[in-house]
Order: sequence, then C-alpha cells, then structure tokens
Amino acid sequence: GSQQKVEANVLLLGAENVGKSALTVRFLTRRFIGEYGDIESIYNHNDRVDGREICFNIWDSLYSQNSDTQGCVTEKQLRWADGFILVYSICDRASFSVVSQQVRRIRQAKKHAGGVDKVPIIIVGNKRDLQHRRTVSSEEGRMLALSADCGFFEISAAETYHGVLLVFHELLELIRESRATR
Ligand code: GDP
Ligand code: MG
Repeated sequence: GSQQKVEANVLLLGAENVGKSALTVRFLTRRFIGEYGDIESIYNHNDRVDGREICFNIWDSLYSQNSDTQGCVTEKQLRWADGFILVYSICDRASFSVVSQQVRRIRQAKKHAGGVDKVPIIIVGNKRDLQHRRTVSSEEGRMLALSADCGFFEISAAETYHGVLLVFHELLELIRESRATR
C-alpha cells in the first residue's frame, strides 16, 4: 500500500524471573510454555494494528546486577529503544523496586539527552493469577505509573494473551505520539 511500514524498537526491562520472556513469547506465538531459560535476544515480529503494518523489534533483556549502570539499564539500550516495557511481579516486592529505579534512570537519561519529556513506557505488574501471593497492590503499581507518567497494566502472561496484546499496542500508541510531537 501507500502507507509506510512503521518500525518500533521495544525493550523489556525488569528484575529476573518476573516474566519478561513469558510476555515476549506470548506476544510472538500466543502461547505460554512455562520455562524460558536465560536467553537474551532481539525478536522481529510483524503485526497489523489499525490496518497499518508494524514491525516490532523486541529486545528481551537479561537483568544483571553486577553491571555498574544505574538500575541496570545500559547506554546502548537507551539509545536503541523507542519504547520500554518495565515488568515486575505482583508477588515480588524487590522486583517492584527495580522497576521504580529503572523508570527513574530512563527519564533522567532522556532528559539529559535533551529529548522529549514524555518517554514511551508501560509498567506491567505480571503474575496476576497469583493473587494469594500478592505483595504489591494494584494501587501501588498505578501510583508509580501515574507519578512517572507511564502506562500501567496488571496482567498474567501465563493465563491470557489479551493483556499482553494490550501492553504492546498501548506502547505503540505512546511511541506514535512521541514521534508526532518530535
Ligand atoms: P524473566 O526472567 O523475567 O524472563 O522471567 P520468565 O519469563 O523466564 O519467567 C520466570 C518464571 O515465572 C517462569 O517459571 C514462568 O513460567 C513464570 N511466569 C511467567 N509469567 C507468569 C505469570 O503470569 N503467572 C505465573 N504464575 N507464572 C509466570
Ligand atoms: Mg528471560
């Protein structure tokens, strides 16, 4: 068609074991396979959103605590990404702290680079199916997202595809908005 193909580089961040790979694989294949190993990879995924062709490049990162970068977000990652999905587990409070650190780190770096105020970020509270083990309330997640001007979803990558789809599509919307105002 006459419409240009849109590319979106999406970086998944968050502590280990929160479901970054589960979320990625769910989006790519619609399936949940349970175990994912410690593989870091960039995947390409072509999708059609609102009749437009989109090429998602999805970087499923590994959280490594021994790097000296704040919140473990590297310069390279910051340069590469058009948008960020920050994942924590609703039953892992430490992972929620990692996400709040990473949000701060991203916003600071972008401000420093003289970029736009609004950085496309979606915060995701995953493992919503594990209600009985919840240690981070929905309210806390929502408040963090509100204070950092990010999108927010609670989902279960294990149980449904729909929530995962919403996360990627909402992020794409934020990326479009940020490009339009640049
Ligand atoms: P990563 O280290 O952030 O990439 O996390 P993984 O995607 O490898 O997932 C870590 C573990 O959590 C695996 O055993 C997954 O099966 C499990 N997991 C991921 N998402 C969910 C979820 O929504 N609910 C439940 N109950 N387990 C999940
Ligand atoms: Mg992983």
